[in-house]
Amino acid sequence: MKGLMQDGPLVLTHFLDRAEKLFPQKTIVTATATGIETETYGEWAERTRRLAGVLDDLGISADGRVATFAWNSARHLELYFAAPCSGRVLHTLNIRLFPEQITYIVNHAEDEVIFVDKSLLGLLWPLVDTFTTVRHIVVMDDGRGELPADSGGWLLHDYEDLLAAASPVEFNVTDENQAAAMCYTSGTTGNPKGVVYSHRSTWLHTLAAMSADSLGACERDIIMPVVPMFHANAWGLAHIGVATGATLVMPGPDLSPKALANLIETQRVTVAAGVPTIWMGVLGELDGRDTSSLRAIPCGGSAVPKHLSEGYRMKIGLPIQQAWGMTETSPLASGGQMKSAFDSLTEDERADYRATIGLPSIGVDCRIVDQVTGEQVPWDGETRGELQTAGPWIAREYYNDDRSPESFTADGWLKTGDVATVDAEGYMRIVDRTKDVVKSGGEWISSVELENEIMAHPAVAEAAVIGLKHPKWGERPMACVVLRPGESLTSAELLEWLDGRVAKWWLPDEVVFIDEVPKTSVGKFSKRELRERFADHVLPTA
Ligand code: ADP
Repeated sequence: MKGLMQDGPLVLTHFLDRAEKLFPQKTIVTATATGIETETYGEWAERTRRLAGVLDDLGISADGRVATFAWNSARHLELYFAAPCSGRVLHTLNIRLFPEQITYIVNHAEDEVIFVDKSLLGLLWPLVDTFTTVRHIVVMDDGRGELPADSGGWLLHDYEDLLAAASPVEFNVTDENQAAAMCYTSGTTGNPKGVVYSHRSTWLHTLAAMSADSLGACERDIIMPVVPMFHANAWGLAHIGVATGATLVMPGPDLSPKALANLIETQRVTVAAGVPTIWMGVLGELDGRDTSSLRAIPCGGSAVPKHLSEGYRMKIGLPIQQAWGMTETSPLASGGQMKSAFDSLTEDERADYRATIGLPSIGVDCRIVDQVTGEQVPWDGETRGELQTAGPWIAREYYNDDRSPESFTADGWLKTGDVATVDAEGYMRIVDRTKDVVKSGGEWISSVELENEIMAHPAVAEAAVIGLKHPKWGERPMACVVLRPGESLTSAELLEWLDGRVAKWWLPDEVVFIDEVPKTSVGKFSKRELRERFADHVLPTA
């Protein structure tokens, strides 16, 4: 017997219509180089329809790829909806990829037009002649940057001019499985891989991410996605803003701790989301500020050290809320909600749970699999295996990429490349990425756990642990440590600090002090760069 309910496509147009009808006076606030700009959802929806008219005027194909090279802004949000709601595919370009990777993804996705913030034109312009399918460049004047003196035969369109001349389009997407957007992984190994989201997957991800046990987002929220709109859909926050009618605060180009703390305070932000390196910086800026509006600080992308989360709890009474995901998982796939049974735990025990990646989100299945036997590991909080995941907003293959077969299991689950454990309550803990784990004498040392213990030392600002070749053990850990300004610490003092906090055989064979841990294009510690830098380094032998 079939259910007797109506069917309707899960398409993004619904979110736009809803914001326009129900919350036309709510706002999207953008911090630009020249000040704060405010657009209402009513204005936004009208501009988004006209922007679709611009795509028609430019002759972009029915399912053409519309690329963006932009900061978080109201205009970027217009593109987020104009492209998919008119049947095209939004392609958010990561502005921090290496130039050759940008060329690769633009050509691989076959982008037809790139919308670029004027302040970023200097980065993009040297590459335009390497693009094989791009026919138009549209410049969004965000108050900084120059147009090139010689446009080299390109007609550089101005966003606002095009918009003023265009007519609005009535949206009519009916196939929920149609592609809505694509995003490439940040490509820590090899070329970036393309993930293609559908209207349906984005719709379902938005609802799950809004739910109370996830971000619990609602109309009264004031949401600041510090995570870039080019990084895994700004973790769903841009769509959530529109779907709920929440105020969005777009931080624009200035992601300095001071600028972010100012926005939290002056815009009365309730939810602010970013990677750990962002929150490491902002913490020191919060003294004496009014942060009483904040109710959640979602954080992920790399491990959230317990001491960082606790640092926020001590300073502003609000610990960080950890989430886990990947570009391939839209990205939210698990989060650190606290079960009600934990109310009786001590604050320290609860902090330990916050250092996990929590439970799978509703709609997502996770399993942790022994890489040798292929069996699921026991829920004992100790046995490690590869985290695999499945669900309606998890990729099933990469876009035109022969690396797909090795990334998915025979039964269709995504192999995440993350090593994890799961405890009796179902809480998962990321031990490491497969390629970062230090394999010492056949046993694994978690670089993440070592880093977290090192960064808990008050004199340490940042730490990254890498495995270096060792004649006896195969690999041994080396710690690359950045001290806080004005602090001093010796290698022996650090090893003494670690003694008792980690197993003796985990203690790094060497500690080197460096000026800064190199970061990836999305602000994570770049261990690949460190491994390259220390490739020929010989560890001291005892
Ligand atoms: P890339 O894979 O190119 O770094 P993603 O942003 O898609 O780009 O990164 C996904 C990866 O980030 C995950 O596979 C995982 O290794 C890491 N990650 C994400 N969230 C967490 C978290 N809360 N704790 C530890 N690692 C995380």
